[in-house]
Amino acid sequence: MATIAFLGLGHMGLPMALNLSRAGHEVLGFDVVPAATDAARAAGLTVTASSVEAAERADVVLTMFPSGRHVIDAYRGVDGRTGLIETAAPGSLFIDCSTIAVDESQEAHRLGEAAGHRCLDAPVSGGVVGAENATLAFMVGGSEPDFAAALPLLEAMGRRIVHCGEAGLGQAAKVCNNMILGISQIAVAEAFVLGERLGLSHQALFDVASNASGQCWALTTNCPVPGPVPTSPANRDYQPGFAGALMDKDLGLAEQALTLTGVDARMGLLARRIYHEYAAGPGAAQDFSGIIGTVRAQSRPQEGTNA
Ligand code: NAD
Repeated sequence: MATIAFLGLGHMGLPMALNLSRAGHEVLGFDVVPAATDAARAAGLTVTASSVEAAERADVVLTMFPSGRHVIDAYRGVDGRTGLIETAAPGSLFIDCSTIAVDESQEAHRLGEAAGHRCLDAPVSGGVVGAENATLAFMVGGSEPDFAAALPLLEAMGRRIVHCGEAGLGQAAKVCNNMILGISQIAVAEAFVLGERLGLSHQALFDVASNASGQCWALTTNCPVPGPVPTSPANRDYQPGFAGALMDKDLGLAEQALTLTGVDARMGLLARRIYHEYAAGPGAAQDFSGIIGTVRAQSRPQEGTNA
């Protein structure tokens, strides 16, 4: 059993840390926000006074932070604070589960490996429910032996675990997947609004498209209109689910990768613009399938109606 410094006990991190603890590992949690450490302690997790204290005592350092800047600063140390890579015993296994840019992830690998550690990027999909139920999907970048070493830990937190290749390729898989998701959720929303204008019922469109070539997760799981999929966020006033702010963040990472690689991805860039506007308003806290409201609001009024 491993001793794991679990750093970042937010929406995702706390339930993931609890699952590792339930699997029998010794988990030492820490978060810079006192409310998060209080909640972790109340949930029964062992909490340390600092990330340094956790990393000193652990053989695995797992991070679940908001952004790449947080990861690199924590690895390297900022404002006179000692970094995790300096604190941890050489040969420690660093697993970063945050969603960050591919180049930032590769930088984190470089920093860790230069200090003699083993490093993996292992971003997740599946949201808070997946974190709570240990059903997350992990996309992992790093060497084969490091992946093999991490596998039992990832299996305690998730169900589908894919080794995508070398450093940063877990993040690459995540950014590509979420670009598909952002584009397809907009496409499904546009199709439902077009169907409404043409007099097609939501159920009829769903029954056809979900069994035809329009079939996709954005339709069959995250259906943006209430009714056809009773568990989709549209049935609970677009409570997330996956918040617009997170889709905006992930499409921002896709945009960064597209700029870096020069790929002509007009749909991806347009999806980024659409979700950036969505997340500038109440959409930030709503499920990203609520984008259907924007499609309706921005559609030209129909002739012969007051709409
Ligand atoms: P969150 O903001 O709830 O949690 C992040 C936590 O990290 C915060 O509590 C913050 O205080 C802490 N933190 C930041 N710097 C720290 C440091 N140096 N030391 C210790 N703690 C530190 O975010 P979240 O929703 O848990 O998401 C975490 C990551 O997972 C993000 O990168 C996000 O994009 C990704 N993700 C989130 C979801 C989701 O549905 N929430 C789904 C998939 C992936």
